[in-house]
Amino acid sequence: MIKVAVNGYGTIGKRVADAVSAQPDMEIIGVSKTKPGAEAFVAKERGYPLYIADLSKKEAFDKAGIPVAGSVEEMIQKADIVVDATPGGVGVGNKALYEKYGKKAIWEGGEDHEVAGFSFNASCNYTDAIGRQYARVVSCNTTGLCRIINLIDSAFGVKKVRATMVRRGGDPGDIKRGPIDAIVLNPVTIPSHHGPDVQSVLPHINIVTSAMIVPTTLMHMHFLNMELKNPATKEQVIELIKAHSRLGLIEKSTGITSTAQLKEYTSDLLRPRGDLWENGIFKDSISVLDGTDLYLFQAIHQEADVVVETVDCIRAMAGDVKSAAESIAITNKAVGLTA
Ligand code: NAD
Repeated sequence: MIKVAVNGYGTIGKRVADAVSAQPDMEIIGVSKTKPGAEAFVAKERGYPLYIADLSKKEAFDKAGIPVAGSVEEMIQKADIVVDATPGGVGVGNKALYEKYGKKAIWEGGEDHEVAGFSFNASCNYTDAIGRQYARVVSCNTTGLCRIINLIDSAFGVKKVRATMVRRGGDPGDIKRGPIDAIVLNPVTIPSHHGPDVQSVLPHINIVTSAMIVPTTLMHMHFLNMELKNPATKEQVIELIKAHSRLGLIEKSTGITSTAQLKEYTSDLLRPRGDLWENGIFKDSISVLDGTDLYLFQAIHQEADVVVETVDCIRAMAGDVKSAAESIAITNKAVGLTA
């Protein structure tokens, strides 16, 4: 069993902990929080040993009735691999701790590529992660872009990608984020950082991205245009997407034309937390004009898509499962991502 510690039990960390626990070859040896709160109560409920970054805060946890197993440093020593899901920019500061104990570590997309020197997406570069000491799972938007771009590039060759991200203002639990009533250009300048981030996984892809933030919490929406090297038909693109387990097709017959209906659908399917781990590609939006000009809309559930990628990254770094297809199948089955 691969012993996994989750440093930072928040939006991503709590999902990673549950997904890891569901795997046949992994176990959670601890999760960490800085303050007592609802998520700390959930960790207790789930039976995850809870560690804290600053032991001087232990009294506050004791008062709240939340048992503390020890310090984050103690947790790290017990792990084979640490998933650092602390807020963006915090994780880089933890690297010295992982180095001190010679532990493998995975960071999430809020950290720069340089923190690990390797950026990961299971469909694109699983085998490059085998046995690595450090990796970074790219952000939710970059994960969604890499999955579809790599698939289309492998089949037809991609000459150029143009993508616009309509980004959620905050996660559903983020009461301090916004905007409440605005469309914010973020950034105003073009390209946005997403294109270069895709290139951290797929360096040969020519891509220009732009992004704006809107008052919603449920998901992001991407509008993608890929100029292809070789002609394709809409039907060929649909067949390729159908065969990819982390690309979901939203059929017209569902009546779903929005992120709200999509979230309702995944909740009604009783997926944990209503999570959509796949790209939600609107089938009717898939259009190939002039043979080589592909367009589509895809919804990306920011809280969920990187979770299954993180599980595959753990498995690749541990080194026993050598193929992406095998790891992806194990991960999907364990979390309940079925076709
Ligand atoms: P979050 O704020 O929801 O959770 C972070 C957790 O880390 C909190 O539980 C906090 O208590 C804990 N924490 C803070 N400082 C800590 C420290 N020094 N030591 C240990 N724990 C500490 O953040 P998140 O949204 O889960 O983001 C985590 C990472 O995942 C970031 O890199 C982020 O960019 C990335 N990410 C987030 C999303 C998203 O939509 N939320 C999507 C993809 C990737």
